[in-house]
Amino acid sequence: MAIRTPGRRRAGAGPAAADEASWIEVNGLRKVYRPRRSEPTHALADIDFTVKRGEFISIVGPSGCGKTTMLKILAGLIPRTEGVVRVAGRDVDGPLPQVGMVFQAATLLPWRTILQNVMVPVEVQRLDASAYRKRAVELLEMVGLGGFEGKYPHELSGGMQQRAGICRALVHDPAVLLMDEPFGALDAMTREYMNVELLRIWKESGKTIVLVTHSIPEAVFLSDRVVVLSSRPGRIAEIVPVELERPRDLSVMSSDRAGVYVTRIRTHFNAAGVID
Ligand code: ADP
Repeated sequence: MAIRTPGRRRAGAGPAAADEASWIEVNGLRKVYRPRRSEPTHALADIDFTVKRGEFISIVGPSGCGKTTMLKILAGLIPRTEGVVRVAGRDVDGPLPQVGMVFQAATLLPWRTILQNVMVPVEVQRLDASAYRKRAVELLEMVGLGGFEGKYPHELSGGMQQRAGICRALVHDPAVLLMDEPFGALDAMTREYMNVELLRIWKESGKTIVLVTHSIPEAVFLSDRVVVLSSRPGRIAEIVPVELERPRDLSVMSSDRAGVYVTRIRTHFNAAGVID
C-alpha cells in the first residue's frame, strides 16, 4: 500500500508471526448465549475454517444463524463458549490492535469532524496522533473524501459516511478488516459503487477481509471464498471457492459464471426453506 504507517512494527512480524495460510484460524468454535431471564440460545456450533493472509472471505446465511456473532467473536468483542480463535497469530481474548471493524451503520460521532472520527482508533490505542494524522488524510483521499476532512458527518451522504467508517477501521493499519453488512443501508446503486470501491481498497491495502452480507451476489462478486452457514445454530454448510478472474468489474456480477455460484449458494437456503 502506498500509504505508510508511522513507526510501528508490522502486524505479523516477530515472534507472533502467523502462518500466512491460516492468518485467521477458527477451530471447534461454539457459542451459546445464556441470558439471565430466558433460555440459552445456541448461536454457533462446530465452526472450523481458516483464512489466508490477504484473502477476501464472505459469510452468508439465514437471519439469526450467528453471522454477527461470529464477527464479534473474531473482533474480540464477545467471548466464545468453546473452541480456538486466532487472528494474525494471536489468540483472541479481547479486541486486538491487528483488527479493524466496520459496522452496519457508519456510527460516526456527530460532534466530531470526519478526520477526528477517523482518528478515534489512534486515540483509543494511544498511538502517536501527529504521525497518524497524515495517514488518516491519505486514506480519506484514497476513498475519494479528500477535502472533506473538516466536514461533519451530517454534511456527507450515507455512502460517504460509510467510506469514512472504512477509513476509521483502516487508520491503525490492522492486518484484518471485519465488516458486518456494511452496505445494507445504502441504495442499490451506491451499494454497487461501494462494492467496486471496496475491491480497490482491498487490492491497494492488501488486507485480509471477512465480510458478513445478506446479499449472495455481493458475496460472490467480492470474495475468494464464501462461507455458507446453516440455520441456527449456525454450522458451516459449505465453503464455496469463487474462481472468477480478477480484477472484477460490475459486469461480472450479472455474468452467467457468477450466476452459477449464486444459484449454488442459494440452494442451501431453498433447502432450508429460508431466504435471508
Ligand atoms: P445473524 O447475524 O446471522 O442474523 P446473530 O449473530 O445476530 O445472527 O444472532 C444469532 C442468534 O443469537 C440469534 O438467535 C440471536 O437472537 C441470538 N443473540 C444474539 N445476540 C444475543 C445476545 N446478546 N443475547 C442472547 N441472544 C443473542
